[in-house]
Amino acid sequence: MELGLNGKWAIVCASSKGLGLGCATALAEAGVNLVMNARTAGPLEAAATALADAHGVKTVSVACDITTDEGRASVLAACPNPDILVNNAGGPPPGMWSDWEREDFIKALDANMLTPIALMKAVLPGMMDRGWGRIVNITSQSVKSPIAVLGLSNSARAGLTGYVAGTSRQVAGSGVTINNLLPGIHATDRAISLDTGVASAQGITMDQAKADRCKSIPAGRYGTAGEFGAACAFLCSQHAGFIVGQNILLDGGGVNATL
Ligand code: NAP
Repeated sequence: MELGLNGKWAIVCASSKGLGLGCATALAEAGVNLVMNARTAGPLEAAATALADAHGVKTVSVACDITTDEGRASVLAACPNPDILVNNAGGPPPGMWSDWEREDFIKALDANMLTPIALMKAVLPGMMDRGWGRIVNITSQSVKSPIAVLGLSNSARAGLTGYVAGTSRQVAGSGVTINNLLPGIHATDRAISLDTGVASAQGITMDQAKADRCKSIPAGRYGTAGEFGAACAFLCSQHAGFIVGQNILLDGGGVNATL
């Protein structure tokens, strides 16, 4: 399917690896020029160069922490008027409800709620003036079905989801869509780190931890960054202009719900 995105510019946050890289890759395949971001310069520059070489698009890498004011300013300076914004950042650490203090919540809210909100606020006026824009936020299946050990993530992402629900409906009339993609378990470094935590907590091997988690997914496997990126590129495409304010699960059926 021709996505109608050739020559557009996208900011893809947290995109040297994992789901962010999956989104950047699918957009590059569709001819989108990219501003890519991550904290560690080496892997980021390698990923940006590889996508430029493979797909003939322009890529700019901005190594910074997207959860800081300075980081967001550098990314926006590299691309003040993006057509597409994909919001992403690392997820908060696991723990127990009784462990978390105010500072832990502030960090999670900064990373997974207030950072995407700040970036949306910065790019929305330009998108609305130009009459076209696409924003996709990477959140989590925990928005629909809480994951007890990820209470910081459950809380911050619920806040972002509420903001998107209202804001998306205020900007849709200007040709701008905002939607959220909710990953279930995907085979990325984040999944490996969560498997490692489960393996050490339960005294089992990594393979056993992964096999146990696969049993909770009707598809019987983890998702891939490629599948995730393809869904993101479709949401950014010309065909998706009537999809507004949705929370789309990509979880292999993991969340057991009718709606
Ligand atoms: P990942 O494989 O660990 O990749 C994270 C990417 O984000 C890396 O490129 C990392 O590079 C970058 N990054 C992390 N923190 C950053 C920051 N503060 N500023 C800029 N870049 C940053 O993670 P993932 O699995 O793709 O997960 C992406 C998001 O989806 C996370 O919020 C995660 O919680 C959520 N999620 C993932 C899953 C899953 O199963 N994978 C499920 C549900 C939700 P640097 O380290 O160099 O910065």
